[in-house]
Amino acid sequence: MLFKEYYQVNDKPVISFEIFPPRTDEGLKKLKDVTLPELIGLNPSYITVTYGAMGTTRDKTLDIASFIKNELSTETACHLTCVGSTRDDIDQILDNIAGNNIHNIVALRGDPPKDGVVNENSYRYANELVAHIRDYERRNNLKFGIAVAGYPEKHLEAQSIEDDIENLKKKINAGSDIIITQLFFLNQYYYDFIDITKSHGIDQPVIPGLMPILSTKQIQRISSMCGSKIPAYLKDDLQQANSDDTKAKKIGIDQCIIQANDLLSSGVPGIHFYVLNHSEHIKEIISQLDI
Ligand code: FAD
Repeated sequence: MLFKEYYQVNDKPVISFEIFPPRTDEGLKKLKDVTLPELIGLNPSYITVTYGAMGTTRDKTLDIASFIKNELSTETACHLTCVGSTRDDIDQILDNIAGNNIHNIVALRGDPPKDGVVNENSYRYANELVAHIRDYERRNNLKFGIAVAGYPEKHLEAQSIEDDIENLKKKINAGSDIIITQLFFLNQYYYDFIDITKSHGIDQPVIPGLMPILSTKQIQRISSMCGSKIPAYLKDDLQQANSDDTKAKKIGIDQCIIQANDLLSSGVPGIHFYVLNHSEHIKEIISQLDI
């Protein structure tokens, strides 16, 4: 099924997960043998697999996505970034994605390499990647579902939320189907984002992305990298938990359940959980959702 079909046919909110390719063979084995079967036991509509995010390896994205789709019979999507890849590279990756019976792509710019050197043949923005994928479809008589990223607290590089929304519209005009948001800890950011996207004529499903906290250090690092603010009350709780990951995880679970149920009661089309390759915490969260 293509992304947008989930949000058209489902009368219930669509629950989806995001995982990332582990760095080690041991991590990959655990993901395939234990975590993924447990996650699939929670009945997500689809699971997306990141591409090179946070320095993780890129070549395992397709392998894991193919495993989910073809061995575990669950719908999946490959994330794909365009920074640093030539147009030929992208065609090659799309050949491989399609050849593995995968029909959904999360199309992203990615972050430029730390040395600042960007291949001059690569695209600069995600809207160009979306246009490339739609062009590839026409050349190959195929159809992909395309999700793009949205930023309720605005993208770190954007001058203003208005500019960012104008750039989001470029991705939509290039042919995206749905928007998945960056993680956020205050639902008001999402509600304000919905208002502003609507006022700019955007009517695609905007799927809130939630990341249940697993440890204080980890979430501080992630939130500073992606610009998602941790509200003061949550910061205080996490400071008290400090290096006690069991306490931090419990705080994260409680926070996520409250956020998710509030979003669900407001009628969101679905929730995309950034599960960070763990299943226990998400099992508890899903069991307490009002759906
Ligand atoms: P873009 O939409 O291209 O936007 C980047 C910046 O440029 C924004 O400030 C925007 O306002 C501006 N801009 C956009 N288009 C134009 C234009 N045409 N002209 C001028 N300015 C423009 N990263 C990974 O490396 N791998 C992943 O798998 C991954 N998955 C992600 C999944 C989700 C749901 C999200 C929210 C993020 C993910 N990221 C991933 C992070 C993402 O790559 C970074 O946030 C990156 O900095 C921006 O990517 P983008 O696709 O939003 O870029």
